[in-house]
Amino acid sequence: MATIKPIEGRSVHQIQSGQVIGDGLSSAVKELVENSLDAHATSIEVRFKNYGLDAIEVVDNGDGISRDNYESIALKHYTSKLTTYEDLENVQTFGFRGEALSSLCALSILTVITATKEDAPKGSRLEFEVSGKLKGTSIVAAQKGTTVISENLFRTLPVRRKELERNIKREYTKVLGLLQAYASIKTGVKFSVYNQPPKGKKTLVFATKANPTTRENISNVFGAKSLAALVNLELEFEMQSKSRPPVSGWANRGGESKKVKISGHISKPIVGEGRLAPDRQMFFVNQRPCNLPQVSRAFNEVYKQFNVTQSPFIFANLQMDTNAYDVNVSPDKRTILLHDQNELLESFKASLTELFNNHEQYVPHTQL
Ligand code: ADP
Ligand code: MG
Repeated sequence: MATIKPIEGRSVHQIQSGQVIGDGLSSAVKELVENSLDAHATSIEVRFKNYGLDAIEVVDNGDGISRDNYESIALKHYTSKLTTYEDLENVQTFGFRGEALSSLCALSILTVITATKEDAPKGSRLEFEVSGKLKGTSIVAAQKGTTVISENLFRTLPVRRKELERNIKREYTKVLGLLQAYASIKTGVKFSVYNQPPKGKKTLVFATKANPTTRENISNVFGAKSLAALVNLELEFEMQSKSRPPVSGWANRGGESKKVKISGHISKPIVGEGRLAPDRQMFFVNQRPCNLPQVSRAFNEVYKQFNVTQSPFIFANLQMDTNAYDVNVSPDKRTILLHDQNELLESFKASLTELFNNHEQYVPHTQL
C-alpha cells in the first residue's frame, strides 16, 4: 500500500489557488476589477488577449501600491483591508482575504505596474515567482494607478487549462456578463472592455462613461433603447425579526425591525412594453454583484402574475445592514448567505406585488 505523506507545499498552494479562481476566467477578472474598485479607481479598463486565454489586463487609475507593500501583495493572506476575523462583520471592501494575487501567481504569469500619486510619472514594474515572492522590480513610466497582467491562466494546472481552452467562448460570455454587472452598478466609474483576437486588432466590446446614475450606465451597456422598456424599482420594507438569537448587531439593538431597500430597474410588466430590454437579471447586495437564485425566483414568480409572455430584465440592488448576510461562504464570494432569507422573500413578494398593482401611478421616467 502507498504510504501516506504530505503533499508538497507548492502543489497545495496550486490546488488552493485553483479553488479561489474556481470559476476560471470570471473569478480572475472579478478579483482584479474588485481590487481596482477597492483602490478607488474611477476608470477601469479590462483588456482580453485572445478572449482571456493569452492574457487578462486590468488597468486602473486608483491609489496605486506603495513601495513598502511591493514585497507582500502577492503573498498568501497578506491584505491591506482586514486584520482580524471580527472585521469580517463590517467589511466594506470587495477583497479581504489576500488570496487573489497570490493565487494568480500560482496559476499564471503575474506582472504588476503601479504608481502612487507621489511616484507618478514614474512607477514600478513588479514580477513575481510562482510562490508569490517578489522576483524583480524595475522603474517604468507610469501614471497614478495600477495595471495587473495575468498571462496564460492555469498554465500550472494542465487539466484546468485544457478545460478553459475548450470552453473559452462560454467563459468569455460569462465574464462579459459579470463586467456588465459591475459597469451597470458602479456610478462614477468609467469602464471599458476590449478584446484582441489572435490575429485581429484590439476592439472595444463595451464602455460606460463615469455616469452619475445607473440608468445611464445601463443605457451605455445595453443600448439607449432598452431604457424605454424599464421602470424604476424602488421598494422598501421591514422584516419583522422573529426568534433569532441575538448574535448579530441587529438583534443586539433589541429586536428592531430590519429595513431592506431594493432599488434598480425592471422591465415593465405591461405585455409587449418590456420587449426592448434584454433578457438579463443582475442582482447585487450593497452593490456587490452576486448570485441570488431564490430572490430571482421570487421576482419571476411575481412578474408572471402580471405578464406570462416575457421574462423580466432585472437590475436589483438590495441594500441592507452588513450584519444581515455573510459573504464569506464561497471562495469567490459570489454566493451570499442571507440570514433571514424566508422573511425577506415574503416581505419582498408582497411589496413587489403592491408596486405592480399600482403601476399606473408608477410613472416610468424615460428621459435621460
Ligand atoms: P485582497 O483584495 O483580499 O486584499 P488581493 O490578493 O486581491 O487581496 O490583493 C492584495 C493587496 O494588493 C491588496 O490588499 C492591495 O493592498 C493590493 N492591491 C491589489 N490590487 C490593487 C490595485 N489594483 N490597486 C491598488 N492596490 C492593489
Ligand atoms: Mg482582492
